[in-house]
Amino acid sequence: MSILKQVDVLVIGAGPSGTIAASIVKQAGFTVQIVEKMVFPRFVIGESLLPRCMEALEEAKFLDAVKAKHFQQKDGAKFVMNGEVCDFNFSQQFTPGWNWTWQVPRAEFDKTLADECEKMGVPIHYETEVTDIKIDENGHSVTTVKKADGTEETISAKFIIDGSGYGRVIPRLFGLDKPSTQYPRKTLFCHMTDPKRSEAVEPNRITVYVHNLKTWIWVIPFSNGNTSVGYVGNPEFFEQFPGTAEEQFRALIMAQPELATRFGDSEMIWEPRTLQSWSATTDTFYGNGFVLTGNVTEFLDPVFSSGVTLASVSAQLASKMVIRHLNGDTNIDWENDYMKAMMQGVDVFRTYVNGWYDGTLFNIFFAENRNPEIMSQICSVLAGYVWDESNPFVKNHEKNVRTLSRYLESQKATA
Ligand SMILES: Cc1cc2nc3c(=O)[nH]c(=O)nc-3n(C[C@H](O)[C@H](O)[C@H](O)COP(=O)(O)OP(=O)(O)OC[C@H]3O[C@@H](n4cnc5c(N)ncnc54)[C@H](O)[C@@H]3O)c2cc1C
Repeated sequence: MSILKQVDVLVIGAGPSGTIAASIVKQAGFTVQIVEKMVFPRFVIGESLLPRCMEALEEAKFLDAVKAKHFQQKDGAKFVMNGEVCDFNFSQQFTPGWNWTWQVPRAEFDKTLADECEKMGVPIHYETEVTDIKIDENGHSVTTVKKADGTEETISAKFIIDGSGYGRVIPRLFGLDKPSTQYPRKTLFCHMTDPKRSEAVEPNRITVYVHNLKTWIWVIPFSNGNTSVGYVGNPEFFEQFPGTAEEQFRALIMAQPELATRFGDSEMIWEPRTLQSWSATTDTFYGNGFVLTGNVTEFLDPVFSSGVTLASVSAQLASKMVIRHLNGDTNIDWENDYMKAMMQGVDVFRTYVNGWYDGTLFNIFFAENRNPEIMSQICSVLAGYVWDESNPFVKNHEKNVRTLSRYLESQKATA
């Protein structure tokens, strides 16, 4: 299929934020085209979803196709520290909404969404990389793309949705990138065979293990029998494990008793991969003729699996505002209704991410007596319902998390 020279909306990137946005704009009757640098299926990390993203998948009409893939169902989040368990079940959450979602190998999940887009009539051009964008004073753009054979083409669009994830196309081209305040953490991860899965207490549950106060591990079982395992910590932590990536990963597995038992004899599906300093942010989420969605806006940290959900919700919100713009609405408040609205959710997660790394949350998660009402409110945050202001642990997130943690700590001290 040849590249369309002119479209209403050009979407950059065929990850979840790109495909969800493209589908919603297409359903409103506009011409949309996606350009994607890679060939799909392609590997990307981010395998544990949150219930809130189901609403976006539903609006994009992707749910049936995803259901047909029989991915592993995820009903909650489980945290383990020194054998103590803190178990969140989404069915007990405070905010009304979805109480389950999936654990997905992203290559297959993202390909499913992309294929659905194409079925709806959204052309996706793979191996087509955006290299330049010029936008005139009316917001109309001319985007230059480079194809796999090295040739270049241009695409005119009335609006651009940048869902390029770690590619950060518009922030990089327009100089909008801003340093993140998050500590530059590192991860080493792999997909592993899981022959002893059935011996585990809850074999298919996603589990986060606290390895030490600054290092944690994800275990995400997939329905294909393999399991994603990853260590996240300060870069210095990994220096005590020398050797090749494979030797390092094997040593890490053996260093955590629960993992040594389950994965001691497992095979690595591919050479363990490493990523570092993934947190990113930008000055603005929108501008004349463009909007940024998903990871291009802000990405904090993987510990609460917020990435795909924030990507999906931003795509859902942005695409509806783009539709209003294309329909001639000149009163769109991008600052309040998009950027501040998204930042509200990001900031809630920021409190919990910071609370995880400074230990504040451990006092709450692993307290002896946990208040079920409060835990259900926190459960809703972990389900991605971070815009529900009726939830005190959303509305006053920072104050309530700190106060509760201090109170529980003082209880411990007097016990
Ligand atoms: C260690 C780690 C673990 C994580 N774990 C989780 C998790 O468990 N759950 C979760 O929800 N999130 C997780 N995330 C975050 C998750 O990876 C991202 O938030 C999510 O992939 C964002 O989706 P997106 O659609 O914005 O971008 P992406 O999925 O990154 O898609 C962007 C697409 O744009 C394309 N692109 C880039 N540049 C160009 C260009 N110049 N031209 C054309 N196309 C381009 C890319 O090829 C890519 O396909 C994790 C992140 C890290 C670092």
